[in-house]
Amino acid sequence: MALRQAIRKGTSLKSPLRNPCRTSASSSSPCAASPSPCSGMACCSSSSSCCSAAVEPSPFSSQNIPFPATSSFSLSPGLSLNPSCAPDSGLGWPSPAAIAADQAVKEGPRYDWVREDIQAIYNSPLLDLLYHGAQVHRHAHKFREVQQCTLLSIKTGGCSEDCAYCPQSSRHKTGVKAGKLLSPEVVLEAARKAKEAGSTRFCMGTAWRDTLGRKTNFNQILDYVKEIRGMGMEVCCTLGMLEKQQAEALKQAGLTAYNHNLDTSREFYPKIITTRTYDERLQTLQFVREAGISVCSGGIIGLGEAAEDRVGLLHTLATLPEHPESVPINALIAVEGTPLEDQKPVEIWEMIRMIATARIVMPKAMVRLSAGRVRFSVPEQALCFMAGANSIFTGEKLLTTPNNDFDADQEMFRILGLVPKAPNFAQGRQVSCDVEQAEPAVAAAQ
Ligand code: SF4
Repeated sequence: MALRQAIRKGTSLKSPLRNPCRTSASSSSPCAASPSPCSGMACCSSSSSCCSAAVEPSPFSSQNIPFPATSSFSLSPGLSLNPSCAPDSGLGWPSPAAIAADQAVKEGPRYDWVREDIQAIYNSPLLDLLYHGAQVHRHAHKFREVQQCTLLSIKTGGCSEDCAYCPQSSRHKTGVKAGKLLSPEVVLEAARKAKEAGSTRFCMGTAWRDTLGRKTNFNQILDYVKEIRGMGMEVCCTLGMLEKQQAEALKQAGLTAYNHNLDTSREFYPKIITTRTYDERLQTLQFVREAGISVCSGGIIGLGEAAEDRVGLLHTLATLPEHPESVPINALIAVEGTPLEDQKPVEIWEMIRMIATARIVMPKAMVRLSAGRVRFSVPEQALCFMAGANSIFTGEKLLTTPNNDFDADQEMFRILGLVPKAPNFAQGRQVSCDVEQAEPAVAAAQ
């Protein structure tokens, strides 16, 4: 709440506070608030060249830059800018991205975002947004670490839902055939291979609306979870909607995380899916969280939504009682035969804007550069990592669509100096439930 108040009160961006090259009123270093946000970055002091550059009159009209006039952002109490490096250049510094990043670094995550503020961050000049996404990323994470997850479709196609982007829906003529649940041999071998290839999280997806009435298959999946967890990997599932008892059974089996994407904003959602509601999705996330499983939830851009819908998605995620542990940002891969087959491909700039905004508003989340990565070059992916992405899917396929080549990913890690993130088994809330209590939970879920 204090953070929220800090943003809302105080001067508007029309005040003389203009430049993120601040000097602190209480510190000799502009970076003192953070142990590491400036390592490797263009850190500045009051005498630095970036400050002197800032005193040059701007050649640009502020009319072309929409954020200053509408934003209500201000700096944290106790912070001041060095007036000599903050002339009223018309650029409206600091941007909402700069201010929100500053506050995220100093005060940690917040859960009381209003949509207009996230919109203002999202609308910040792209390079500024990128820079401050990186600032928050470096503060909240080991910035060279990237989580590698492998996603396997363990039950493909024939889904009863009508998600407009999905080639696995039985309502679309995409040529994806309905299959049965993959056998233990196939699934466990895939997990072993993923581990050997450096993956620390193994994700299993099924093309189902939910798991109700699938007792045998659900039991089988519980066994997969136990086995793969026993290999020393984090385990994630995406099985559609869950009931409370099923979430508890998955937790008892050792599930690390459960993926259930919100996909887009509440307003745009009915244009994409009509067979389940936004609130049903939120209900599943609540059951997952209450069971003590890490929540993985993000969305897809490129569905034909407006920028406001992207912001709406981030706003819903960032105002959950706890931020998702993982936030996948997917770029639509338009598949022939789906209603979205003619959608224009997402541009890298849109991904960077989305990733950096997600990083700033949910500092501690793993932001996953997910579907659509296959279309981006290494330099483009580098910008996404810079903006705050710290997780990827590896493996030949993402469910049914192609993914990046394994060797190319390893080479990218080498070139960019990235290192694989080790598994974290401490995540998710510990629930006090002994074995005796677990058995009824598993039985009830069947
Ligand atoms: S996204 Fe999931 S729920 Fe929707 S159609 Fe595809 S498999 Fe079914």
